[in-house]
Amino acid sequence: MATTTSPDIHATPEVKHTQLLIDGEWRDAQSGKTFATMNPATEEKIADVAEGDAADIDLAVKAARRAFESGEWAEIDARDRGRLLNRLADLVEDNLEELAALETLDNGKPIRDSLAADLPLVVDCFRYYAGWADKIHGDTIPIRGNYLCYTRKEPVGVVGQIIPWNFPLLMLAWKWGPALAAGCTIILKPAEQTPLTSLRLAELALEAGFPPGVINVVPGYGPTAGAALVKHPDVDKIAFTGEHLTAQIIMRDAAETIKNVTFELGGKSPNIIFADSNLDDAVAGAEFGLFFNQGQCCCAGSRVFVEKKVHQQFVDKLVARASNRKLGNPFDMDTEQGPQVDQAQFEKIMGFIEKGRAAGAACVTGGNRFGDKGYFVEPTVFDNVTDDMEIAKNEIFGPVLSVLPFDSMDEVVTRANNSVFGLAAAVWTRDVAKAHHIARQVRAGTVWVNCYDVFDAAAPFGGFKMSGIGRELGEAALANYTELKTVTVSLD
Ligand code: NAD
Repeated sequence: MATTTSPDIHATPEVKHTQLLIDGEWRDAQSGKTFATMNPATEEKIADVAEGDAADIDLAVKAARRAFESGEWAEIDARDRGRLLNRLADLVEDNLEELAALETLDNGKPIRDSLAADLPLVVDCFRYYAGWADKIHGDTIPIRGNYLCYTRKEPVGVVGQIIPWNFPLLMLAWKWGPALAAGCTIILKPAEQTPLTSLRLAELALEAGFPPGVINVVPGYGPTAGAALVKHPDVDKIAFTGEHLTAQIIMRDAAETIKNVTFELGGKSPNIIFADSNLDDAVAGAEFGLFFNQGQCCCAGSRVFVEKKVHQQFVDKLVARASNRKLGNPFDMDTEQGPQVDQAQFEKIMGFIEKGRAAGAACVTGGNRFGDKGYFVEPTVFDNVTDDMEIAKNEIFGPVLSVLPFDSMDEVVTRANNSVFGLAAAVWTRDVAKAHHIARQVRAGTVWVNCYDVFDAAAPFGGFKMSGIGRELGEAALANYTELKTVTVSLD
């Protein structure tokens, strides 16, 4: 497990790989093109990375297909697939501080979060799915007649995995763990903002002993590399995490080949605070639920519904906490909030803050850029937000929290569900019946009671409505990567 003090952490971890990994070999893009990946805390270039496009994706798909059909992978014992995943987990642990530093460098997230949250969750995820590799099996079914009928769960095949920049390594682990346990082969397209840790992890996967072609990593842009992966006729499945607008494009592109797709998309998650809750815990939960990871969480509790009886008290306590958050160099161990990932996100967030003000919401803390270098945004709280305001409806994906006062339980359920999204929700109360009532009534894939952002590799995660299709993590994620085959044998 990670430690929270780390003498070896330095602001300039070595960038070992900037090329594409295809068929176990590091290569430049066939076009020869590269793109810059930037340090969001300093606005300086970290490295130029090979920019894959359709030609490289085609090579990677061929390599993944060959690997999928090769005896080296197709005939490997399931238990040995598990061993490989455990070995990868070991290597991540052995290189945990370096990986955490590289993640912080490329993404801007505080090093203490990379060390204490991202990396340990990555290790857990690989170990959890290592355990599943030899437990993926079918049933025998008592059909009518003299037959033996059974099902097999077979790997879906060559999978394209497209991930965002907010948790680069963790999103990779959520995708690689179940896919590899199931016996698939992979082409991963990391986000263009954060390609570095996935390339380093690809190297560790080779070191762990995954055969060449089982894991391929092709950085590049969405409309070129990403779209080529989605449209490729020899890719059996696409697993995507990102914005719902991108998912709509992917769904259209995937229709050409009737491709199996699963989506983990955005949210506008309600965090419901009743007057009978432990208010200090609820305030801390609201702060963590929104400001963690610079607000760049798909499940961020961005609509905080507060019962009117405790509204003012809640806002005073929240403002005190939010305005005390420590922003700055993400490599300082006491930094709680780093920069947003890039200029585009920074500008989008500042635009939403302007819209909040213009709509008449009360900006009770923050609302400005922090410092003059790097994409830092002050922790921002809007009070007296109404459901029709843009800041209450759209995913901001930044450190901007909206407080929405409410009177009754029925009212808050209706308002919480009044969203096109349904990823997560939380409720804070000492009343068990009330908690379960909310848990049942809210249309969301995850409901936290008196807690927020509690993740575990064993607990499924995903969205209702426009927040996604399918579930990641837990046993549920294995369904994303397996085809069910029915075999019927005549016993006559
Ligand atoms: P995005 O959709 O812009 O990009 C995600 C990935 O898709 C990137 O790798 C990008 O290059 C690729 N992409 C872009 N256009 C593409 C296309 N036409 N075809 C194929 N691939 C394409 O999202 P983002 O801004 O990078 O990430 C933030 C979003 O991700 C937020 O909406 C957030 O809520 C969501 N998210 C959801 C979860 C979840 O588990 N539900 C987790 C993390 C992030």
